[in-house]
Amino acid sequence: MSVLSPDGSEEISQGLRNSLRDQGQRLTPQRERMLGLFERLEEGRHLSAEEAHQKLRVRGEQVSLATVYRTLRLLSGMGLLKELEIAEGGRRFELAGHDHRHHHHLVCVRCGRIEEFENGEVFAAAEAAANRHGFRLLEGVLNVRALCPTCSMEA
Ligand SMILES: [Zn+2]
Ligand SMILES: [Zn+2]
Repeated sequence: MSVLSPDGSEEISQGLRNSLRDQGQRLTPQRERMLGLFERLEEGRHLSAEEAHQKLRVRGEQVSLATVYRTLRLLSGMGLLKELEIAEGGRRFELAGHDHRHHHHLVCVRCGRIEEFENGEVFAAAEAAANRHGFRLLEGVLNVRALCPTCSMEA
């Protein structure tokens, strides 16, 4: 659900705009376009900074990779994006939507392929552990390091 603005550039959805406003958060147009990019990704997609940069460039946005990095960091810090650390210091980003919160990742440590899965037991275990120690659970996500079928054949 994206909105086409008068100048033809796609923006973030009204729903996301409303929740930003409710949280009292304001975004510059550039940051908003970055968020819009993630909002329009098909579910289960995760982008590296390089991929996000590439997508913005394809749409004619003049933005440096350094700026993309900074913007991604900032949006993650605001809790709007989620940062996922993968092998060899790589990072992927995804939208931190409420409806897409408690999913886990199977990460190929060699090629960076990511598959998502859901598992209520993992979440319940995280919650139980948090309760036991008097912690308030914010997120119970499991990132499993693995080798995908292609990479395990090469191994
Ligand atoms: Zn994910
Ligand atoms: Zn792989």
